[in-house]
Parts: sequence; C-alpha cells; structure tokens
Amino acid sequence: MYVIVNGSKVVIFYLNLFSISLPLIMTIEDIYKKFPNEDSCIRFLEKLKWNGEPECPYCLSNSQTPIKDNRYHCNTCNISYRVTVNTAMHKTKVDLQKWFYLIHLILGTNMSISLRNLGNELGVTKDTALRMSNKIKESVVKQDVLIQKIYNYERE
Ligand SMILES: [Zn+2]
Repeated sequence: MYVIVNGSKVVIFYLNLFSISLPLIMTIEDIYKKFPNEDSCIRFLEKLKWNGEPECPYCLSNSQTPIKDNRYHCNTCNISYRVTVNTAMHKTKVDLQKWFYLIHLILGTNMSISLRNLGNELGVTKDTALRMSNKIKESVVKQDVLIQKIYNYERE
C-alpha cells in the first residue's frame, strides 16, 4: 500500500495484505452510532488490545491504578498511559471514531479520494487527513495487530 501525492490529490493503492477486500459498507455516521462518545471508543480499544486487563506499554506490568482521562498509572514503573500509546492514534486530537472510519476506508476499500474530500468527510484539514492516512498506512506496514483487529471488527 502506498500513496502518491500530487497537489491535493492522493491516490491510495490497496495492496491486499490481510484479507479479501470488501466494498465500503460503513459510513462515518454508522461508526458514531456504534461509538457515541470517546469513552465507548476507549472501552472498545481496551477490549481489543488488552481483553480487559490493562498492560503497561513500557514495562508490560499488569499492575495499574486507573486515573482520569481513561489513563492508567503503572504501579511498577510509575509511568501513566492509555490504550492508544504505541498506536497510530497516540496523542491524537481527532475523534477516535474518525480514525476508525479511516481505518475502514484504507484497509477495506480500493479507492482513490482527494485529500480535500477526505478532510471534508472527516471534518479535518487536508493536512490532518494526510497525516492520519500516513500513520494508518505505517501501522499496516508494521503489521499492527490493533489496526487489523479494528478493521476485522468493522467487517463483522
Ligand atoms: Zn510500567
């Protein structure tokens, strides 16, 4: 999978890395229906990534104390973290639902779309749309299991 940026046009070539591609069946509204707020997105990611038992991304300890903003304090190395550490969505200010949608779009469809249109659809600037696309593609190249799990879930 790679991208050619030509002015504001971005062409996404879908390379079938994981599975058979399905036509785009999910809209961004569908995702907001399934995940109405940030907490529901975080619970979903925690279940996919940790199966309910948080693990420190820095020392792999399972001993933690929940703190505010969906973060955990690691009782072993004393660093705080949340489920998005080490993922494309780390420190993002964009709604996680928009990430879920873009993952669906990039992994699941063989399409070209202008960055401007993509930005409009996501409600972000075209620069942000490009940054998000690149991060998701990097994750795919790194065979990030979480990204693949999100995509698989969306296809169910
Ligand atoms: Zn730790």
